Amino acid sequence: MYKRVLLKLSGEALAAGKGFGIDAIFIHKIAEEIAAVHALGCEIGIVVGGGNFFRGVAQQAIDMDRVAADHMGMLSTVINAIALQDAIEKRGLFCRVMSAIEMHQVAEPYIRRKAVRHLEKNRVVIFAAGTGNPYFSTDTAASLRAMEIKADILLKATSVDGIYTADPKKDPAATKFDTITYDEILRRNLKVMDTSAVSLCRDNNMPMMVFSMREQGNITRVVAGEQLGSLVVP
Ligand code: UDP
Repeated sequence: MYKRVLLKLSGEALAAGKGFGIDAIFIHKIAEEIAAVHALGCEIGIVVGGGNFFRGVAQQAIDMDRVAADHMGMLSTVINAIALQDAIEKRGLFCRVMSAIEMHQVAEPYIRRKAVRHLEKNRVVIFAAGTGNPYFSTDTAASLRAMEIKADILLKATSVDGIYTADPKKDPAATKFDTITYDEILRRNLKVMDTSAVSLCRDNNMPMMVFSMREQGNITRVVAGEQLGSLVVP
């Protein structure tokens, strides 16, 4: 069983198929799963995305400055983090939001040692505002935070049940990898995470499990040591 994990939740996951906003029922289901993982004695850090509200790259189409758009994207992750914190606290857990962009009235500033202390005290920590820098993604933030908190594994919960040779929604002949290396992801140009996130994990020996969060209980099963989805090894 893993003792400390970094869970990456995309913004789209919170929208639960609606594409925009936060699904009120689904966010409570996620919180319930996080409570179940916590009950196993696992320390949990979460990086939450913001694509359900705003994506920097997409906004360039409306002729916005990329840096300004990325600032909006990072702020949208804070909205998700606060919603998730509220849902987690409703399950009776202690939870802290730490933001990479300082906003003291809303969240604690991200300080690595404090984050680790929260985890040691069995508080769930949600890392908001990505890396705090434009031109990055929350996948890169997840890789970075996983390394900083010395997580045993990065858990990437998605809408697909693993990594495939091609997009299984478009190509019915696509096959799933049980295990794959980061080098092979880069070589095959598979769209699992952006390349900076992939190379960060590869260069720092951080394993990752990519699995579907559509079925309730999957996060708990993965934390308990079951191999669901695809395991990525350095
Ligand atoms: N973002 C950023 N720097 C970061 C993380 C995120 O500028 O370190 C911005 C970027 O515009 C991105 C948006 O925040 O499009 C939302 O994050 P992301 O697209 O990774 O969210 P997800 O796809 O996981 O919902």
